[in-house]
Amino acid sequence: MTRAGGRDSSRADARPDSAAGSEADVCIVGGGLVGASLACALEPLGLRVALLEAVAPRSATQPSYDDRTLALSASSCRILQALGIWPLLEENATPIREIHVSELGRPGRVILRADELGLDCYGNVVEARVFGAAAQRLLPELHGFEWLCPARLTTLTPDDEAVTVGYEADGQSAELRCRLVVGADGAASAVRDALGIETRHHDYGQTAVICNVTPEQHHAGRAFERLSATGPFAILPHVGGRCGLVWSVETAQARSLLDLDDETFLSRARSRFGDALGDWTRVGRRSAYPLQLTRPLRDVGPRSLLLGNAAHAIHPVGAQGFNLGLRDVAVLAEVIADALARDRGADPGEPDLLRRYSEWRAPDQDRTIALTDGLARLFANPTAGAAAARRAGLLAHALFPGLRRRLAVQAMGYRGRIPRLALGEDLGAG
Ligand SMILES: Cc1cc2nc3c(=O)[nH]c(=O)nc-3n(C[C@H](O)[C@H](O)[C@H](O)COP(=O)(O)OP(=O)(O)OC[C@H]3O[C@@H](n4cnc5c(N)ncnc54)[C@H](O)[C@@H]3O)c2cc1C
Repeated sequence: MTRAGGRDSSRADARPDSAAGSEADVCIVGGGLVGASLACALEPLGLRVALLEAVAPRSATQPSYDDRTLALSASSCRILQALGIWPLLEENATPIREIHVSELGRPGRVILRADELGLDCYGNVVEARVFGAAAQRLLPELHGFEWLCPARLTTLTPDDEAVTVGYEADGQSAELRCRLVVGADGAASAVRDALGIETRHHDYGQTAVICNVTPEQHHAGRAFERLSATGPFAILPHVGGRCGLVWSVETAQARSLLDLDDETFLSRARSRFGDALGDWTRVGRRSAYPLQLTRPLRDVGPRSLLLGNAAHAIHPVGAQGFNLGLRDVAVLAEVIADALARDRGADPGEPDLLRRYSEWRAPDQDRTIALTDGLARLFANPTAGAAAARRAGLLAHALFPGLRRRLAVQAMGYRGRIPRLALGEDLGAG
């Protein structure tokens, strides 16, 4: 197991060198996209932070840092900039300048153009693997931080003063005491289970097959989302003229798509997409993700809370999941920073602070889940009424610039009360 902790004394002399072995203020369980981002967000607050991650970062089985191309909204890019992660992603990021939305196989489409809003782009596309490499560089340098990896959570025992986190590393059992435990351990969260939080699941019966493809014509910063009864067929602009493809199909069809030889796969994908980018010449490795909605009935427990996919694993239509998780991160860091500004000895696990976090996040999480779940179900609905609603929605957005603007601002991640990190403002050091 790696036990890495910040050692750069020039960064903040008054701060502790690392979470002290078996004690921490905050223990993050899960060092994927969301957990690693939270570790970076908490660093300036001067807390002792420990992070438990079950899978070694370079392992081929690391579930968070795989081949997925992630569309990051403008507000996410700002948050990542404030966390010091963006400079390590920027070189391999591709700006999204236009978003083309249509119903697969039907005429009519909505085009959102960034320049219509006086913007350079709506956000950027970054590969999850590139994010993983950046996290791997940044985490060992964080001050007051201990990275326990590979280490898997086994038990959680909260009491009035602290939570005892039991974990296994190198075949040994160990314990860590902390004031707040954050479950950022994904859709099948062990933290959520240990807290006994009841969870609602919905299986869409769809599976997303993802890979990179290289079209003959350059994407020119255009993202395409073609919606269908079996989920989206999305093309995201990527580095080197490549594109990230997300092709959702009925789960029973996914295996046969994965097993096709490259040439047949390319020709089927290309004919499903149409002519907009000419012929497709190359395809990368294909992977499959069954699509489900997982939503716990609450996101807070005793000295504990859930973030990212542990709190809301959603359908990928509209590319909202990690963007939503990053807004969770920005809000939690702000709520803790404000408590520390009022009282340097503030307890990050006290119930009022957790309630403030949960109340702030609920409207954004509810709206995003309603949007993605609503779209997935509307497009899967075969009735004439649903087809008419789809056509009317697309037509209204195509005709009215005001509606397009509203959609674009939401797609950029600006809705409700916006956290300071998403506005490019400092949290103030702890
Ligand atoms: C096909 C597809 C396309 C997507 N595209 C986009 C997109 O374009 N834009 C976007 O914003 N979102 C997108 N998403 C959503 C995005 O991938 C998720 O929101 C994101 O991965 C959530 O990150 P997370 O860190 O919360 O969870 P995860 O990525 O699941 O990470 C959880 C981490 O916890 C660790 N862990 C689990 N259990 C334990 C344990 N017991 N002890 C210790 N560690 C543990 C795991 O090893 C892992 O590293 C997409 C999703 C899919 C399926």
